[in-house]
Parts: sequence; structure tokens; C-alpha cells
Amino acid sequence: MDLKSLIRDIPDFPKPGILFRDITTLLRDPEGLRSSIDLFAQKVKDAGLRTEYVVGIESRGFIVGAPLAYQLGAGFIPVRKPGKLPAAVHSIEYALEYGTDCLEIHQDALHPGARVLIVDDLIATGGTATATARLVQKIGCKLEGFGFIIELRDLQGRKHLPEDVPIITLVEY
Ligand code: AMP
Repeated sequence: MDLKSLIRDIPDFPKPGILFRDITTLLRDPEGLRSSIDLFAQKVKDAGLRTEYVVGIESRGFIVGAPLAYQLGAGFIPVRKPGKLPAAVHSIEYALEYGTDCLEIHQDALHPGARVLIVDDLIATGGTATATARLVQKIGCKLEGFGFIIELRDLQGRKHLPEDVPIITLVEY
């Protein structure tokens, strides 16, 4: 199935010069949604990744990560923006183009040695995924892989991710 044809391009969103890759048109298509998750799960299995937990990044990483975890027989763990998680958290600050951002995970969500797949809808510069990887590695987890529906290759985000960790992608631009 041609997943790319279901992804919509919105120029100049959220600010001038950004070409936003909108997956809502993929998600609303019943066959597109099913094919995306099935293909994602198949690629994770083909890569030999043994995933105990899918860690999804707020918020589009939740939409993709939860059904993927279900399909893989794994648990799902949300990484959220500050102040959203109710129990004790680990936090990580990371640099944006202008200023900084922060992500949090429940301290008791993962145990050292847990096998983790980090998932988001899209990798651009890789800053978000790198910060999430640090969060997970701080707990002492085994990073099995990263998974994204979309990779924006020009931005070379994969260069910033830890070496030797497999990266699964479905659609590239
Ligand atoms: P980055 O940290 O630069 O890899 O950015 C990844 C995060 O920003 C993901 O959560 C994406 O959903 C979002 N994002 C960045 N660039 C785009 C884009 N061109 N279209 C849609 N989402 C984007």
C-alpha cells in the first residue's frame, strides 16, 4: 500500500518555511491505519528486535505507539511534556532551535535492563528522540531500537541517535 499518498503536506505550518507532514489523513483511512501499524510491527520483527516496552513520545507517538505495542505483545509507556504525569518522574531538558524543551517519564515505568523501542510519528533533527533515549538509558534500559512512520532524511536526525541502535522507518522524504 502507498502510505505516502495518504500523508498530506501543509506548507508553512506551524511557521513559515516548515513543510508539515500531516499524518491525520493517513490515520483516518481505515486501510492506511491498519497497513501502517501492521507494516511497522512486521519491520520490528524482521529486524529481530525483542521489544518488551514501546515508549511513545507525546503526542503523535502515542497514536502510533499504542497500537504497535498491542501488535507486538509489548507494554506501552508514555513520555510526556512537563507536569502531565501524576507520579514521580525523571525529566530531561533538551535544546530546540530557540530555547529548550523538557520531557518526562514515570520513575517506576521501566526497570534497568528492560528492552525498549522508542516510537514517534516523525524524525526531523532527532532532538526529541535523542532526549527520550537519554531518559530511557538513564534508567539503565536496553535500547532495542527507534521507530518512526516518517523520516526527513535531509535533516540527518539519525546521525544524532546512539550508534548501533536499529532505526525502523516506513516512509522517507
Ligand atoms: P525533531 O526533534 O526535530 O526530530 O522533531 C521531531 C518532532 O517534531 C516529532 O514529534 C514530530 O512530530 C515533529 N515534527 C518536526 N518536524 C515536522 C514536520 N516537518 N512535519 C510534522 N511534524 C514534525
